[in-house]
Amino acid sequence: MQGAFQKHLDMVKKIGAEGVEIRTSDDLDSIDGLIIPGGESTVIAKLLIKNDIMNPILERVKSGMGIFGTCAGMILLAKKAEESDQPLLNLMNITVKRNAYGRQQESFEASFKVKNFDEPFAGIFIRSPKITEFSKEVEILAEFEGVPILAKEGKLLACSFHPELTGDTRIHQLFLEMI
Ligand code: GLN
Repeated sequence: MQGAFQKHLDMVKKIGAEGVEIRTSDDLDSIDGLIIPGGESTVIAKLLIKNDIMNPILERVKSGMGIFGTCAGMILLAKKAEESDQPLLNLMNITVKRNAYGRQQESFEASFKVKNFDEPFAGIFIRSPKITEFSKEVEILAEFEGVPILAKEGKLLACSFHPELTGDTRIHQLFLEMI
């Protein structure tokens, strides 16, 4: 609906899976996993509500669909966004702080270790959120400067950065394995 979805579709294709654009609740019927891209979480939330797709997503999660949220997508997955009353999917036991790494001009690339990856991953951070709290159901798979940036809870995966903007498919591969 909004944000960097095309790059995610390219990554999905690269790892040998089939990707489709999700715009209506009917589109959800055919998928095993949903990727919510980066963009503007307030805008994505408004569109989810306007297009009556918020509840169908929650229903599909109950019946086993996984979700991978990147950046704005991570905010939507969270149970709480600090200092914000925007609607959220309210699924993952994390609290996030929006724009916690600064403004657009302060966007940066950083390398960090990811659990079970042999080589570091280089992530691109664009007005990224931070995970400020998480509960014990949440597994932290990567940290940057002591802050969790990649987290997993059941079939939900969330990251602060944009893995779709690099050529590195390993995090998409991880999500594919989860679902
Ligand atoms: N700052 C955006 C938000 O709050 C997220 C930025 C991004 O997805 N790159 O929704």
